[in-house]
Amino acid sequence: MQNKYRLMSPGPTPIPPEVSAAGALPIIHHRTPEFGEVFTRVNENLKRVFMTENDVFIYAASGTGAFEGVVQNLFSPGDKVLIVNNGNFGNRWVKMGRAFGLEVVELEYGWGQKADNDEVAEALANDPEITAAVCVSSETSTGTVNDIQGFAKATESVVTVVDAISGLGACELRTDEWGVDVVVAGSQKALMTPPGLGFVSVSERAWRAHEESRMPRYYFDWTAAKKAAAKTPPQTPWTPAVSVIMQLDLALRQLLDEGLENVFERHVLLGRAARAGIKGMGLRLFGPDEDMNSAVTAAWVPEGIDGKQLVRAIFREHGIQVAGGQGPMEGRIFRIGHCGYFDAYDIIATIAATELALEAQGYPVELGKGVGAAQRVFSKSGAKV
Ligand SMILES: *Cc1c(COP(=O)(O)O)cnc(C)c1O
Repeated sequence: MQNKYRLMSPGPTPIPPEVSAAGALPIIHHRTPEFGEVFTRVNENLKRVFMTENDVFIYAASGTGAFEGVVQNLFSPGDKVLIVNNGNFGNRWVKMGRAFGLEVVELEYGWGQKADNDEVAEALANDPEITAAVCVSSETSTGTVNDIQGFAKATESVVTVVDAISGLGACELRTDEWGVDVVVAGSQKALMTPPGLGFVSVSERAWRAHEESRMPRYYFDWTAAKKAAAKTPPQTPWTPAVSVIMQLDLALRQLLDEGLENVFERHVLLGRAARAGIKGMGLRLFGPDEDMNSAVTAAWVPEGIDGKQLVRAIFREHGIQVAGGQGPMEGRIFRIGHCGYFDAYDIIATIAATELALEAQGYPVELGKGVGAAQRVFSKSGAKV
């Protein structure tokens, strides 16, 4: 039978039709009042989504690029930095820090475990040379969301850096209220925009660290970005990704029209339903079963089933693209992304297809049990779906 293509990965994610359409418009020149109008609005709306009054810069780069910019702009070689590693992305920042000559103090947790903020505070108390602390908000490789409010509190004495590349726009992250100095995000996850943009927010304290920092930098230099942003209308020092920014403009307006608190709530429901569906069909969740995990749901591949084949079958036979496990979890878990442009029926369809794919591979599932459990979450919530 013909299948619709449904992208249920935690990045890139599907984008609203209006955002797609905006990508087809003619390219406008970036040093014009016309682009200036769009860019001014995007900057203002981005701050609202970041929940900050701090500077927010936009780069033509993926999230990793914006993160590399953080390392270049905050530090000098040899600086001591605490990095929480509880998955693929925490691990990436450890490797990146070392690549730039930082002395990384790694606080490691198992995949699917959450960072313990008491241990974070203790590590800082034991080593006054540490100048900054890094943590991932939504660890996309496992679905586990760290308690960033607690992390910011535990790291009050140093510069706090949070990777919210899949979290921003899905999981609650109150940058200013919680006192997070630097937040990194990307366009292609919860922000419902094609891949191509990286974002960073920079607090006053982060600016002071930047002034001391001696790491070589050029493209990602925050000082250059700030200087260009101070022009009227605001600009970027280099050519911005004009089309993707025009698309982001529509996506941000859609998010803010829904209302950020409603957006957070929708993601909590999507996560709850996905977990109920997984458990309902008799599978085991990977990571904690809690509302905070609202961006990605990960589940163990059941015994006797080939994880890679399961992911391929859900796509080939049902048109639904979920994600497999990364690194040590390759073939052992699968992940349903629901950060961004997702609704109840995306979850219900994915659970239905997973049940069918498992049955086809000989795994004993009672069709509809996971689907019913997911539906029940929505019906019980009283939300209109
Ligand atoms: C996707 C992701 C990244 C990497 O971002 P790219 O845009 O692929 O460079 C880093 N951290 C987290 C938590 C992510 O989800």
